[in-house]
Amino acid sequence: AKELGRNNYQFFTRKLDDKIQEKLALGNHLRRALEREELSLHYQPQVDIRTGRIKGLEVLLRWNSSIQGSVSPAVFIPIAEETGLIVPIGAWVLRCACDQNLKWQEMGYPPQSISVNISARQFREPMFIESIAEVLKETGLDPQWLEIEITESIAMENVESSIKQLKRLKELGVTIAIDDFGTGYSSLNYLRKLPIDTLKIDQSFVQDIGRDENGEAIVIAIIQLAHNLHLTVIAEGVETEGQLDFLKYKNCDEIQGYFYSKPRPPVEIEQYLKREKVS
Ligand code: C2E
Ligand code: CA
Ligand code: CA
Ligand code: CA
Repeated sequence: AKELGRNNYQFFTRKLDDKIQEKLALGNHLRRALEREELSLHYQPQVDIRTGRIKGLEVLLRWNSSIQGSVSPAVFIPIAEETGLIVPIGAWVLRCACDQNLKWQEMGYPPQSISVNISARQFREPMFIESIAEVLKETGLDPQWLEIEITESIAMENVESSIKQLKRLKELGVTIAIDDFGTGYSSLNYLRKLPIDTLKIDQSFVQDIGRDENGEAIVIAIIQLAHNLHLTVIAEGVETEGQLDFLKYKNCDEIQGYFYSKPRPPVEIEQYLKREKVS
């Protein structure tokens, strides 16, 4: 048994070493990804649940590495955060998304709000607000067409400083959404004080619809909470018609998910925007 224990231990440390090596390698590739132009943006429609019209587009980063192939954001975003690379990468995402949005407006499509994900590291950067103000100024994008998404856990960690930071953001004229709502530990008293516009119901609860009554109860509670606070509420990760029907019946405002569309590159999004134009 002792022998086995030691082997297991060696096996375990070797696996751990491999993991660390792998992460270091990825971090090094990621450092070059920007200059090699391996990063790109996909957009996923956010749709009005009653009219079916597009109300916004969430920007999702994609990395097609020349060495690793396509790497999931779930893998490389945490590495970007640990290494601090998220700051230059995040700045690029913001800039590129604003440019794209403006380009669509110039092409004559009905204006859309684009939602950009912001990581903890970016949000706490001293120059974060200034960098957003600068992108808005340089691109000339009307701030009402930019939405900033931060997760509930980021907002609630160090909440007094978050309130200050979010207020400064609001003053720029952009809108604010709280992402992955329901997974963190919101104090309702603080939630009331955050100058936000939208709550995004975390997809884990949406996936519970039709399967787990407790999850459904949370979805219903978040919709009511949002409306009581005069916020828009959007369900993410909507994959089935059953989920859509439930959310419609419970008065959710918007949906986002594979049921309507997965995240797609700009040229493919233009097909949707074309339809918005004629209808
Ligand atoms: P998130 O912000 O919660 O984004 C939603 C994720 O759910 C995306 O995964 C999206 O592709 C996926 N999704 C959308 N609809 C469905 C659906 O119907 N079913 C399922 N199963 N999934 C759906 P993705 O693109 O892999 O991104 C993962 C996470 O990486 C994001 O979660 C976000 O936290 C982070 N991320 C992505 N792009 C950026 C970025 O530009 N900056 C930062 N800081 N984080 C980003
Ligand atoms: Ca919106
Ligand atoms: Ca998000
Ligand atoms: Ca989310």
